[in-house]
Amino acid sequence: MGSRKVTSTVSADFQGKHVTVAGLGVSGIPAAKVLHARGAHVTVVNDGDDARAREQAAELEALGITVRLGDGASLPEGTELIVTAPGWKPDKPLFTAAREAGVEIWGDVELAWRLRGPDAAPWLAITGTNGKTTTTQMLASILKAAGLRTAAVGNIGVSVLDAVLGEEQYDVLAVELSSYQLHWAPSLRAHSAAVLNLAPDHLDWHGSMEAYARDKGRVYEGNRVACVYNVADKATEDLVREADVEEGCRAIGFTLGSPGPSQLGVVDGILVDRAFVENRQKNAQELAEVSDVNPPAPHNIANALAAAALARAFGVPAKAVRDGLRAFTPDAHRIAHVADVDGVAYVDDSKATNTHAAEASLAAYESIVWIAGGLAKGASFDELVAKSAKRLRGVVLIGADRALIREALARHAPEVPVVDLDRTDTGAMLQAVTEAKRLAQPGDTVLLAPACASMDMFTNYNKRGDAFAEAVRELGS
Ligand code: ADP
Repeated sequence: MGSRKVTSTVSADFQGKHVTVAGLGVSGIPAAKVLHARGAHVTVVNDGDDARAREQAAELEALGITVRLGDGASLPEGTELIVTAPGWKPDKPLFTAAREAGVEIWGDVELAWRLRGPDAAPWLAITGTNGKTTTTQMLASILKAAGLRTAAVGNIGVSVLDAVLGEEQYDVLAVELSSYQLHWAPSLRAHSAAVLNLAPDHLDWHGSMEAYARDKGRVYEGNRVACVYNVADKATEDLVREADVEEGCRAIGFTLGSPGPSQLGVVDGILVDRAFVENRQKNAQELAEVSDVNPPAPHNIANALAAAALARAFGVPAKAVRDGLRAFTPDAHRIAHVADVDGVAYVDDSKATNTHAAEASLAAYESIVWIAGGLAKGASFDELVAKSAKRLRGVVLIGADRALIREALARHAPEVPVVDLDRTDTGAMLQAVTEAKRLAQPGDTVLLAPACASMDMFTNYNKRGDAFAEAVRELGS
């Protein structure tokens, strides 16, 4: 870890500036409005030109904002700054043109960061391939339990722009940041930050694993108090080492094992802190019991430790960590227990949209009938299947890229029975659950952890999880 001198956060002056907003949508519309209200000449460019886009465009045009629909490629004349929706790929012609013209490109997070007032609440930032939403919500719950005014914001529902510019006063914000958002947020400086884990995901967007890791690592840049990393995932520690941080900022590890000095970990079923205590060579502070974490699956205990580390870095007392964890309930479709039918548990982890998440999910149960498949996004399933083979009672495959999983099963778990459903219609879920029921024995868990995106069969992972739960209910009735 290098150290840097304090970087001041200058509030940007947009009066008279020509700003292009790339993309209508959840971040683009508020960004365009804010910039317009601050005196900028705003042009919104958008690839799509459908009915909804036209409706949104009309609303902005009524305010005096220029909107170009069906033309997201060319750089409008005179552009001095681009504010982009986070999902827009860096290799788009618009950005190439901007770079050639020396025009800066900001994302929604960068804009929010620049617009914060001088007394703005500090940010505790969380990124990683999996567990971001859960950890951010756990952190907010802990901060609330400590009596702090806070909210879980970012890639999570409430945009950072709304949080920063809204009426509500905060003491501290728990901010979930995606790799896309970090890519476009060069001057963000969090109080403290965590990278939960790093596994290949979104590589088509970033171009390579190195580029993806680099963007995740930006979350540590300029941290003041703590850079929180995962002891079990060396890549996260490497990112801490590479970051330029404020003088005195500490590297804090979290581990499911017994913690060393400057780490949080687990001893005899207790979450303990050996980082934010007096004399950490000798002392440790009990924070909570493993059973206070909901659900107490290993990966989720890791999430709880990361959240606790950030909260402790902010000075939160141990009791608030326990109370906050107890008060937390996970969002839907994240290892949600749907029902027990004939001694078999049915669990919906539809949010396991990549292999890394599915691996964590499968590691939480002993004997599993696994429902998997969907859009693979270029992933390989060999490692996941090899690691999970001994837990599999059987597998039911659905979705467009199921052959990839079937082949990996043939290579690494040839003895496990596989039902390959040759359908991608929405109704396939009922058949999948029926087949899973047939394979399961009392004491088993039927686990929907698809390791794939859902869009081949469903609108999103929520709908996929809902279809699973509905099928289970039908089965049980
Ligand atoms: P994100 O916001 O990063 O997508 P979520 O909290 O919504 O993360 O969880 C997404 C999925 O990742 C869930 O299905 C869960 O099973 C899995 N998951 C959660 N935490 C972890 C973790 N620490 N390591 C691996 N997988 C995880």
